[in-house]
Amino acid sequence: MRKIALIAHDRKKRDMVALVGEYRERLAREFLVGTGNTGKLIVKENQLEVKVMASGPLGGDQQIGGMVTTGEVDTVIFLRDPLTAQPHEPDITALMRVCDVHAVPLATNLTSARLILDGILSKE
Ligand code: PGA
Repeated sequence: MRKIALIAHDRKKRDMVALVGEYRERLAREFLVGTGNTGKLIVKENQLEVKVMASGPLGGDQQIGGMVTTGEVDTVIFLRDPLTAQPHEPDITALMRVCDVHAVPLATNLTSARLILDGILSKE
């Protein structure tokens, strides 16, 4: 079972719901964790089970970074908004860094997200 973290900045949340919708059946077989608002939205809109951590600006990205370090997360889909300054920018940088430290695949936009999900999720 893959252990996938799902995070989306506010202006990317609709994209995340649409992306999860495209892969819903296959994602339903995996362990999913999300930052607070993203996670709750996926539970509501996609009817999937998601472990919901703190909201990103309140430390959720750090919690997910910790899960990457301990191996509780092995894939990160992080739909970032590159046009809006985020108050928790240091946490975002730290999460991306920890993915590189542990060679965990990280997608930061829809195209790379689809490539990673197509690569890791079995089609059966
Ligand atoms: P949120 O956090 O899912 O709680 O909105 C995402 C983020 O801003 O990193």
